[in-house]
Amino acid sequence: MKILITGGSGFIGSAVVRHFVGDKDAFVVNLDCLTYAAVPDALADVENTSRYAMIKGNICDRAAVRRAFAQHQPDKVVHLAAESHVDRSIDGPEAFVQTNVRGTSILLEEATRYFSGLPKARREGFRFHHVSTDEVFGSLGPTGLFSEESPYDPRSPYAASKASADHLVRAWHHTYGLPVVISNCSNNFGPWQYPEKLMPIVILKALSGEPIPIYGDGMNIRDWLYVEDHADALFTVLTEGRTGESYNIGGSNERANIDVVQALCTELDRQSPQQKAYADLITFVEDRPGHDQRYAIDASKIQRELGWKAKTSFEAGIKQTVRWYLEHLEWCRALALRDQAGRRLGLGRGA
Ligand code: NAD
Repeated sequence: MKILITGGSGFIGSAVVRHFVGDKDAFVVNLDCLTYAAVPDALADVENTSRYAMIKGNICDRAAVRRAFAQHQPDKVVHLAAESHVDRSIDGPEAFVQTNVRGTSILLEEATRYFSGLPKARREGFRFHHVSTDEVFGSLGPTGLFSEESPYDPRSPYAASKASADHLVRAWHHTYGLPVVISNCSNNFGPWQYPEKLMPIVILKALSGEPIPIYGDGMNIRDWLYVEDHADALFTVLTEGRTGESYNIGGSNERANIDVVQALCTELDRQSPQQKAYADLITFVEDRPGHDQRYAIDASKIQRELGWKAKTSFEAGIKQTVRWYLEHLEWCRALALRDQAGRRLGLGRGA
């Protein structure tokens, strides 16, 4: 099976490439333009195998996308390429509209063109899988869960751009008959996450003895999933999901941000003890504008229909994540230094 993956050099994309090539015997073609967020080192284990090819290209570049389809003749597409950081979307929404909306529409047009030219037998197995987020559903109150039927209510430019992409993908299915599936996943964590997202920032700041920033009162709730479980769920949806359907993916790990940070500090105290507890560094800072209060995923459909369930508990995932960052501290520090990652973004003063 040959799979064209966009954004395969990112945090989740690289876990997907490693899983598909390493565990599922797939041939993967990775189309990625290597933005600041790419972590190409995460592909070191697969890049010299005979089942991996890399194309450095932008999904907004129609000619490059067309060439990728023509040259590699994929059986399926998994579309992950996106601008993904909410804070950056607040400071500069245009890049999110470009890649997440326009890039997706170009990819859909080229996928449809390619799909239409396939022989019937190959058309039957073809899938276009859009990897989306639970943030398209907006913010929950203290109770309830997002299901596949929840109305779209995106609140940040990032969420709005992903919601737009979901709508385009469904429109291409209904209008042009492109066989699509969509998955909406909760917050991911694990190895190779770029050090501008919550967990790597906390680990880096703690180990450097700097204040660990928490937005607002720290009571915003997210539902966490270990990234390798997400990669596994994506393979299941891609190969077994029903065409035209969407599947919510989550690990049923709702945690307030303050509890996530506490858990990381406690694990750092165990794995890399210093004189004072790392939690002493926790500092509350100005909140993100429009900060969604709570996300929580009802993942019963993927479990019921496709038999998929997350394998990694939140506690085990935290332990593995902290161990991984301790082992890759220099890599992470170098990236953070290069891009001044960890500096405060998303106060809405740069847009
Ligand atoms: P990421 O920012 O770590 O990686 C994105 C990758 O896409 C990078 O390698 C980048 O170089 C590439 N890319 C960006 N723009 C591109 C373009 N125009 N052309 C080609 N390549 C481009 O993102 P991530 O956290 O790995 O997320 C991957 C996908 O999963 C995104 O679509 C995101 O919306 C979705 N998602 C993420 C999470 C999460 O918690 N991180 C949760 C649910 C869904």
